[in-house]
Formats: sequence, C-alpha cells, structure tokens
Amino acid sequence: MEQATPVKFQLETEPASSRFQPQPDVYSNSITSLYGQTEFASSNARAALVIAHPGHELLVHGWLELARPCVFVLTDGSGRTNEPRLDTTTKILNEIGAKPGSIYGRLSDRAAYSAILNREFDIFIRLAKELADAFIAERIDYVAGDAAEGHSPTHDVCRLIINAAVKITNQRSGQGVANFEFPLVSPPIANLAALHREDIWLQLEEKAFARKMALAKGYTTLTSEVSAALSRASADAYRIECLHWVDGISDTRSWDGERPFYEDYGEKQVAAGYYDRVLRYHDHLEPLAEALSSCAEKEHLTNAEAQ
Ligand SMILES: [Zn+2]
Repeated sequence: MEQATPVKFQLETEPASSRFQPQPDVYSNSITSLYGQTEFASSNARAALVIAHPGHELLVHGWLELARPCVFVLTDGSGRTNEPRLDTTTKILNEIGAKPGSIYGRLSDRAAYSAILNREFDIFIRLAKELADAFIAERIDYVAGDAAEGHSPTHDVCRLIINAAVKITNQRSGQGVANFEFPLVSPPIANLAALHREDIWLQLEEKAFARKMALAKGYTTLTSEVSAALSRASADAYRIECLHWVDGISDTRSWDGERPFYEDYGEKQVAAGYYDRVLRYHDHLEPLAEALSSCAEKEHLTNAEAQ
C-alpha cells in the first residue's frame, strides 16, 4: 500500500481543532483535524444525511460517527440485480447510533430510473416536500448529501431533492438548514483547491479510518463499487472527508458541466438492447430541476399569502 501523503494546504480560518469540543463519547478521538463550520460538526448540532443509494454513507463514515445524523435513503440500492442492500446500511447506522429517517429505501432503483425517464416529476416533488417536513420535525440544523456529478442520474436527482427540501424548509419555518454535498465518484481530495471556507473538512485518525475501510470491504454487495473507488484514488485519499457548502442562492440545476457520463452509458445500454430510450440531461434532469425549483418557489408564495 502507498504511504500516506500529508495534506499540505492552509485555510484562512483558524484550525478548528482548538475550538472543537465534542461531547465526550467513544468517537471523540476519531479525527486528527477539522476545519470549517465547527458549530455544525459538534455533536450538539442536528444533522441529516440524504443519499440516493445505501452505501454512500461509507464515504463520510468518520463524520457519521461524529454527527450521528438522521439518515434518508431514496432507493433500496437494488440496482439491476434487484437485490436490495439496505440491511447492511441499517447495521452500520445502528452501530453508530444514527437513526433512519422517514424516507428510507422508498424506491427500487428501477422505479427511480423509470420515474426520471418518464418525467414523473410528482414523485420527486412529493419526496422533497416530505423531506422538508422531516427536517422541520427533526429540527435539522444542517444536511449533507450526494453531489451531482453527472455520473448517476439518481445521485443527481437526490441533489435536486435536497436543494428543494432545504429551500422549502427555510421558507416554511425560517429554520435555516445549512446545505452540504460530497462527491461519490470524484475522490475527496480532488477538490482541495476549490475548498470553500464554509466547507466542513475532516481527517480521520488511524482507528476511525480502519473502521471505515473494514466496513467498506465488508459491504459485500458493494464490492465492485468499492474497488472502483480504490482504483480512482489510493485508500489513503479516503482518510479525508469533505462536506462542501452548497450556496443557497444558486438554483436547483443539477449539472452544468460537460455532457454527463450517464448519457454515454445510456447510449451503450440502448445499443445493447437493455433499454429502449436514453436518459438525458436536457430531456429529463433539467425539466425535473425546473419543476422542483418552481415547487419550492410556490411554497414561498403560499407562505407569503398566509402571513
Ligand atoms: Zn450510488
């Protein structure tokens, strides 16, 4: 295995380790460094994790141990094999003391994919509203969840739902839920240069890192995903966990970059006869982003009228 590469960068903020006082618990020594919005990373703040698939929680396992968030999972992770993998995630959450949220494996992967493809926006609008209800009921201070990377449409839709739910919550209750994202395909260190001062950044100490790696290797239904992640970056890259702050002003478009990977992949699947249509950003994701955005906007108007 490669040697650990020391991370050399300095944020303008003072190192939070001096200010960070987690409540005494078994995980209080899990991290060696923590920067950013430390008021959120303390165990007093109420956190939510919202992910498209079971298993994504592994990427932020150190943070999970510290924050013990309420965890929402959109799909059951059944993929094309139709074999759900929610149970392993439930076990991981139980060990940490994080609790499942009201949305937990709600859709099969196939159902989610075909709802996007068939532009059944209502399903996702209902999920966003339900998530907002849960944020209010659980008095959530901040949420972390999937980033839109143009890789999996379900990941990108998860990001759209989070953004809409945060907007709705803030409009309904004035609660001020802070919004963070983490990449699922890009290794966590890839964006160090783009680190924002509001980002939450932590580096796991040896035991916490060992727990994370052991769980990743023991998550048998994720074997190919874990080895793909380890082929994109060395295992040591996953000592770092970064929750990137999502600007509340930016709109809910999920993807503004190059042609997304899922379109290339979809074309191959159609050519091979697995699907009859290609899921595309402009035809499917963009109109969904607009529908969710205007739903959040309508909530705002309804609230304004009610006052
Ligand atoms: Zn996934």
